[in-house]
Amino acid sequence: MKKIYNYIAGEHIPALSENWINNYNPSLGSVYSLIPDSDESDVEKAQLAAQNAFPSWSSTPAAERSKIIQKIAFLIESRVDDLALAESEDNGKPVSLAKKVDIPRASSNMSFFATAILHDSSLAHQMSKEVINYTLKKPIGVVGCISPWNLPLYLFTWKIAPALAVGNTVVAKPSEITPMTAYLFSIICKEAGLPDGVLNIVHGYGPKVGSAITKHPNIKAISFTGGTNTGKEIAKVAAPMFKKLSLELGGKNPNIIFDDCDLDKAISTSVLSSFANQGQICLCGSRIFVQKKIYKEFKERFIEKVNQLKVGDPLLPATKIGALVSKPHMDKVLSYIELAKEEGGTIIAGGQQLNLDGRCKDGYFIQPTVIEGLKFDCRTNQEEIFGPVVTIMPFDTEQEVLTYANSTVYGLSSTVWTNDLNKASRMSENLQAGIVWVNCWLVRDLRTPFGGVKNSGLGREGGFYALNFFTESTNVCININ
Ligand code: NDP
Repeated sequence: MKKIYNYIAGEHIPALSENWINNYNPSLGSVYSLIPDSDESDVEKAQLAAQNAFPSWSSTPAAERSKIIQKIAFLIESRVDDLALAESEDNGKPVSLAKKVDIPRASSNMSFFATAILHDSSLAHQMSKEVINYTLKKPIGVVGCISPWNLPLYLFTWKIAPALAVGNTVVAKPSEITPMTAYLFSIICKEAGLPDGVLNIVHGYGPKVGSAITKHPNIKAISFTGGTNTGKEIAKVAAPMFKKLSLELGGKNPNIIFDDCDLDKAISTSVLSSFANQGQICLCGSRIFVQKKIYKEFKERFIEKVNQLKVGDPLLPATKIGALVSKPHMDKVLSYIELAKEEGGTIIAGGQQLNLDGRCKDGYFIQPTVIEGLKFDCRTNQEEIFGPVVTIMPFDTEQEVLTYANSTVYGLSSTVWTNDLNKASRMSENLQAGIVWVNCWLVRDLRTPFGGVKNSGLGREGGFYALNFFTESTNVCININ
């Protein structure tokens, strides 16, 4: 059986306990590799390695750090086929999606932050002829990066790249459900010449490894992406220790379709924003609100396209929807479909688990599902499902749809479809969300602030926001008189 190893002080090693966790291929429903069942003793070892590496890495010139990180980007890019296949086997997503989105984006994360540090600068504030202030931006020290299973390498590198670029050393934990590409990434980092101990990757369960990272007194900042409840747990531990915290959490995003929009574009993009990556993207629009005049037409044409989506073996080029990430997650999503029926919803597309033939017969597949007839404030419309399930509802006025859209505890992203620029600006002003897409979805400029409001998170990632998060500022005030 293939084994994945921790990466500590430049070595690939098992957990100190020598215990292993089964790693499943969700499209086959079977174990295909083993990962270290690490605990706080492994985190301690990783933290020590990171502490030891910090003085040298933080004093390495930015241009030198940049070169090594760009080499990592290059190696990811040159291995896109292997990495995409590994991501698909580990996560269940179509290999075509991993090849087009996940892996290229992981490479751009590395190259973006590698070059960003070459263009970063600090501030100076002159008070008078005699007095000037300037700001030093210093790396924090050892930082913790904890990432989820839905976009494994994409989100892992999104945190690690800025942390390393500004001179921190890192203890990182990928999700125990999708550890494979983090392991392959550690091999790439070694090959690219990243000095030993600068990046340490500890595999294992969240409550053991993740919480050991969170509570370690020498790990001074935590960048976390995952569920809102886990985010709360992390904040409870880290806040009293005065750690810097970046929390990117769950969402229940509205997709709002006004009757003056380009309907063809709204329909084809809504199919993607509902079901890409099996609906397991925190930015998916899981509540579709359609203005009454076009509700019937939108619904019929949308359903027609949804029914054409090919659910199947993630390795086949025609597949648009792969497997859900795990059996417990599939069961959770199916339980929400049952809840929707109990709450009075009508299933107008999908609604069932799919049993495929052939090699994927035991995999975790669900038909893309559309539910109609639910109230905006029922549980199905308030709680994050994080699967291939969307609801669709009509609305009359801007005010009404704003009430619906803003009614959840979440506030990650929103999508608005309209050809009226004034309406788009009014909506953007009033939607409670960290990101608003107008007439598009998932278009990402890595320089822009990324994050949520309300229970969707704390802080912003992206561009100089991430570089600032991973640094401490010291103001130096000089009287030159
Ligand atoms: P989880 O919160 O379950 O896990 C995220 C990471 O935290 C995993 O590595 C997990 O390990 C670890 N973890 C679990 N418990 C703890 C703990 N007590 N202390 C520290 N770390 C812990 O999220 P999922 O992996 O299920 O990911 C899905 C969620 O992520 C969704 O809610 C989604 O909306 C959100 N998300 C948010 C994004 C954003 O940018 N806002 C982007 C992508 C996803 P393990 O896997 O071993 O449990």
